[in-house]
Order: sequence, then C-alpha cells, then structure tokens
Amino acid sequence: MPILNVSAIPAFTDNYIWLLRNGGTACAVVDPGESRPVRETLLRENLDLRYILLTHHHPDHVGGAFELSEHTGAKVFGPRDSRIKGEFQPVEENDRVALAELGLSFEVLEVPGHTATHIAFTGHGCLFSGDTLFSVGCGRLFEGTPEQMQVSLDKLASLPPETRLYCGHEYTEANCRFALEVEPGNAALRQKFAQVTALRADGKVTLPGVLHEELAVNPFLRSREKAVVQAAREHDPSAIPGAHTLGVIRRWKDHW
Ligand SMILES: [Zn+2]
Repeated sequence: MPILNVSAIPAFTDNYIWLLRNGGTACAVVDPGESRPVRETLLRENLDLRYILLTHHHPDHVGGAFELSEHTGAKVFGPRDSRIKGEFQPVEENDRVALAELGLSFEVLEVPGHTATHIAFTGHGCLFSGDTLFSVGCGRLFEGTPEQMQVSLDKLASLPPETRLYCGHEYTEANCRFALEVEPGNAALRQKFAQVTALRADGKVTLPGVLHEELAVNPFLRSREKAVVQAAREHDPSAIPGAHTLGVIRRWKDHW
C-alpha cells in the first residue's frame, strides 16, 4: 500500500517547495517559486511531475510553475486570481483536487488574510498552508484584515489535531523567538524553541509542525488565550480576545 511521502525542496533563501510522492514515479509539487531545484530533483530521483498546486499568487510561490508545466505537462491548480499568469485550473472552497496518478486527493480551503485569494490544501493528514499559517507564526496581512485572518486560522485550527503542517517558509526559529516575547511563560513553547534551535543548528528542516502542538505554541492560534491577550494589551490597552488581539500581535511582529 503506497503511503504519501512529503519532502522539502529548498528554494531561494528560506522557501520550501513540497514534493509529494505516493509510491510510483508520478509526483506533485506545492508552490514551486522556482523551477531549477524542482527539475534537478525530478532528474536525480527519476520522477515524473504530474501536478502542481499553488496556494497564492506571490512570485516566490508561483514563479517556476508554468515553466515546469510546459516542460512536463503537469496540470496546475490554484486560486482564481488574474495575477497568476499562466494556464491553470482555478479551484475554490470545498473543491477537491484529484491527483489521480498519485491516488491522492486534497480539499481546498479558502484562507484570505495574507492575500485576498489565498487557498490551502488538506488531505491524507496533511495541510499545505502556504503563507497563511506558519509553524509558530502566521503570514503578514498584505491584503486582508485581522478579522479575515482570524476566520482563516480558525478554519485551519479546526482540522484534525494530528494534521501535519507544511508551510511555505523556514521561519520557525525566528517565530519562536517572537512567540516567547508574547508568552515567556509558555513551557510548551520553550520546549519547541529548544527542539527547533537544535534542528537548525544541524541545518535540518523544522517542518512539518503538528496542529495540536501549534495550538499550544503559536500565538496567532492563541489570540483568545489570556496570556496572549494580556501581552497584546501592553501594545494596545484596548485589545480584546480574538481578531483584535491577533491584529495587535501581528502589527507588533511587523515592527519587531
Ligand atoms: Zn506570500
């Protein structure tokens, strides 16, 4: 019985392109911001790229997608957004993306906040969250409000607790440092920081996160927790639990 195998292809300075395999030579990638490292991997591993999943329009996530699809014939799925220039199948909330040649399918979740049309893909115990939910962090609010991001993060937080989190960047160590400013007394967070620091010292990938652990350490998933709201009040005394607190700590981090 083939089992979904997910591995990281590093790109640029801190992006990850996620490579999905399920036993055969057919494979898929998520958010290929550049094509070269993917093509090198396909050659080295003798893989056949059949599908490309895109979470949002930013160039460091889509920049290599259409060069790859031209070379390989891979089918591209992404959010309906005219800023993504190329031929692809737009998908929306509740759509299922069938990767038939891998025997896999993923559900599409609309998660606006980082961008207006950002989507995530979930299935087989995995979540590909792009730049919406990071391990111990969340994306900057370039095109959305804290309220939208709160709804998006609540949607992701409601997935099964064992869901593995594959996000778009290796930001976890810096995210832990910021999270410790918000919640210096969070023991689970201190433990996470120690693990992540050791992994990075060895040059290792800190992902995937696991959702139930993220719920205990990620301040952006904890905007209704007393300690997080109190920390937000040091920056904005009017902070109330939920989206408002999320917005305050997001702005705090933007200037951190
Ligand atoms: Zn982005």
